Amino acid sequence: MGERLEDVKLYINGEFVDAASGETFENINPFTNEVTNLVAKGSSPDIDKAVAAASEAFQHGPWGSMKLSERMKYIDRIADLIEEEAETIAHLESLDSGLPISQTRKMAARGAENFRFYSRVVQARMHGDAYQVDDEFMNYTVYQPLGVVGLITPWNAPFMLLTWKVAPALATGNTVVLKPAELSPLSANILASVIQKAKLPKGVFNVVHGFGETAGEALVKHATVKAISFTGETTTGKRIIKNAADSLKKTSMELGGKSPLIIFEDADFEKALDAAIWGIFSFNGERCTANSRVFIHKSLKEKFTTALKERVQNIIVGDPKDNRTELGPLIDKGHFQKVTSYIELAKEEGCEVYQGTVPPVFKSGNYVPPTLLLNAKNEMRVCQEEIFGPVMAVIEFETEEEVVHIANDVDYGLAGYVWTNDIKRAHRVAQAIDSGMIWVNSQNVRDLRIPFGGMKASGIGREGGHFAIFEFYTEPKAIHIAIGDHHIPKFGKGK
Ligand code: NAD
Repeated sequence: MGERLEDVKLYINGEFVDAASGETFENINPFTNEVTNLVAKGSSPDIDKAVAAASEAFQHGPWGSMKLSERMKYIDRIADLIEEEAETIAHLESLDSGLPISQTRKMAARGAENFRFYSRVVQARMHGDAYQVDDEFMNYTVYQPLGVVGLITPWNAPFMLLTWKVAPALATGNTVVLKPAELSPLSANILASVIQKAKLPKGVFNVVHGFGETAGEALVKHATVKAISFTGETTTGKRIIKNAADSLKKTSMELGGKSPLIIFEDADFEKALDAAIWGIFSFNGERCTANSRVFIHKSLKEKFTTALKERVQNIIVGDPKDNRTELGPLIDKGHFQKVTSYIELAKEEGCEVYQGTVPPVFKSGNYVPPTLLLNAKNEMRVCQEEIFGPVMAVIEFETEEEVVHIANDVDYGLAGYVWTNDIKRAHRVAQAIDSGMIWVNSQNVRDLRIPFGGMKASGIGREGGHFAIFEFYTEPKAIHIAIGDHHIPKFGKGK
């Protein structure tokens, strides 16, 4: 039996409320496919209410004009409360998404760190520049919040990804309407209750649950909303940019990926193997920066394939609540079918498909076994399209020139991983790969100060560090002050 929880409401103007329509939808547990609870189905009238509350809080509430040190006390309090609730967050996140509990514990801790980090960065870095122009002008810049911002998040790492947006948005003085993914609504409401406990002024933070085509689109099209920060699929991102155009909104797009991991002949074999396995099978393979394409040097192919097969057989596929579980069920039946159909396609395209096993006791969950697509070719659809599951294609290469070319021969450009002990080659290849982020001899370790995001079909803009603050959540204003006399043309004084 799955765990039955209290129903999920919207959070608008400091209160948990039903949708205006009174409608709800079912939240399904990926491990059992039973109903966890009902979720208030927000739509356009709820978005209107939430935006009105956020707008009032921005314009007339204390949030935007509060002293920075005061605002940061709230942000730090949110971090403290997340830490207090970390075990509950980890548990609910695992229940909602099917992610193994050992991984959601780390995500909960990261959620708190996101708030602490932005509290520090905003205090230290949110200042403008001053430019002296001889003895005529003093020009300077200030960075001001945008107003109401809309945040739209996916289901694959719900709490971590939403805190990643909410923390910088609030720390810089904006007010927020969050539309979480319909498939994983629980942790957004924990954040709402944390924010309620932290006593943020009413309307500063609002959550509207619901579907993308209704709640999401209403938020994107709302004239009062100044910006949309979106993480999700590339096709959704394109649609959002189109819908945001009429009201000339600023948009930030963190989209899909098909990231390469390249192992040269001189790489530290065991470490590269660990990184390749972890990078595709952690987060159940539902990871935007997953190394879904591994390029292995011809000389290592056999050894690598044998080692991969052994590891895949030993991956612990299990109940997400079990601390030892390494791979859990996919988010829902629809996604399970999508991933499974790509594995069928891989066979048709000529790959050797090698899989681990799912214990029969877990047959009611959306489990896809850890899967290798061996003897893959980069031009196959399974190497070009984002599968977003525990499925790794293995492609052989011979020369550096060749591997750089094929690694870049894809629409996406989010992450890349290079394994070599040749320092010149490491830099050369890192600089040649078309992606927003590259890790050399390293797994995907996140440094919050560094810009996070992709190029090509993987996104526009960057999150993280001062990039979020200066390039997205604030508007730079230039102020020009005459400090002496300067020439002003005299028009209309006659000939
Ligand atoms: P999705 O695009 O289906 O949904 C994401 C969010 O957008 C959800 O809240 C959804 O309700 C909403 N939405 C859907 N249609 C909308 C519309 N027309 N208008 C407004 N909102 C709409 O993505 P998903 O399936 O939830 O997430 C998986 C995807 O996210 C993968 O492609 C993955 O690579 C990507 N992702 C990217 C990053 C990154 O940083 N680049 C991080 C995590 C996930």
